[in-house]
Amino acid sequence: MRRFAAAMTLLVAGGATMAESPQKGMSRAVRLKRAVETLRPLHQKISKPGPGDWLAHHDEPGQTFKQYVKSRPITPRGKRTTLYIQPIGTFSKTQRRIVNLTAEYMEHYFSLKVKTNAPIPLSAIPPAARRVHPTWGDKQILTTYVLDRVLKPRLPKDAAAMLALTASDLWPGKGWNFVFGQASIRERVGVWSIYRNGDPERSKESYNLCLMRTIKTAVHETSHMFSMYHCTAYECCMCGSNHREESDRQPVYLCPECTAKVCWATRTDPVTRYRRLAEFCRTNGFEEERVFFETSIRKLER
Ligand SMILES: [Zn+2]
Ligand SMILES: [Zn+2]
Repeated sequence: MRRFAAAMTLLVAGGATMAESPQKGMSRAVRLKRAVETLRPLHQKISKPGPGDWLAHHDEPGQTFKQYVKSRPITPRGKRTTLYIQPIGTFSKTQRRIVNLTAEYMEHYFSLKVKTNAPIPLSAIPPAARRVHPTWGDKQILTTYVLDRVLKPRLPKDAAAMLALTASDLWPGKGWNFVFGQASIRERVGVWSIYRNGDPERSKESYNLCLMRTIKTAVHETSHMFSMYHCTAYECCMCGSNHREESDRQPVYLCPECTAKVCWATRTDPVTRYRRLAEFCRTNGFEEERVFFETSIRKLER
C-alpha cells in the first residue's frame, strides 16, 4: 500500500459488450493501425521514471491498440451515446466556466454529446465517506462512495459514461493521501476533482493552467471508463500520475496507440477529431497544442 500516494488510478470490474460485428470493428482497426504508424514520429517514448513517479511505484502492463481491441472494451454503443457530468457541491463562477469548457473539450475529444446535470449538494455525502486529511487538514470525500453509491444508482440508460466532478479533495481509501480522479474500467462511472488544479482567479496563466489540468484529468478518467489502461509506451495523457509535477509534464494529447483506441471506441476519424481539438485550442489560446494537432493532421493527410 502506498504511503505518499497522489495518483490517478483505475478500478477493474467485470462485464463487456462489443458495439458492432467483430468483422466491421476489425476493418476499422486495420485503418486506424495505419494512422498509428503515420503518427509515431511525432511522439516521444516514455522516459525512465524518477523515484517518486507513477511507474516507479506501480508495475503496469501497458496496453497496445491491438490488445485494447481484443479486450472487448466498454464503448459508447446502442443508446449509450451521452457523457454525463455530475457536479457535487458548489463551484465559483470561474470554476463553472472551466467546467463548461471542459465539457466542450470532451465533446470534441470523444465525439459524444456531453450533458451537465444539476449539482448534488455536498451534504449528500455522509460523514462516514468524508474525512479531514490527518496531516494536511484538507477536507476530502471518498471516491468509492461517489462511484458506488452516488453514480451507479443514477446512471442514465443513455449514458456512455457518467463522471462526477467536485471542488472538494478526493481520497480513495486507506493508505492514500489523495487522488486527482478515479474511474471504473468496466462500469461507466468515474469521479474527478478540481481541488488541486490551482486558483483560476489569480491570473490569466493560473486560469489557463487550471483549465488544462481539469481537461487532462477529465479525459484521462473518461478514457479509463472506455476500458483504456495506463499508457507505458509514450509520453501520453493516459500515463499514470503520482504527483502534480508528473501530471503537469504529461501532454494533453494521446500517443498514437491511445489515439487509435479512442477513435476506435467512438468510431471517429482521427483527422476530424484533431480538427475539432485544434479549433478548441485556437479559440482558447492553447497555441502549443493547436500546433501539435495541426501537425498531426498534416501527417495523416499526406
Ligand atoms: Zn489513471
Ligand atoms: Zn498512450
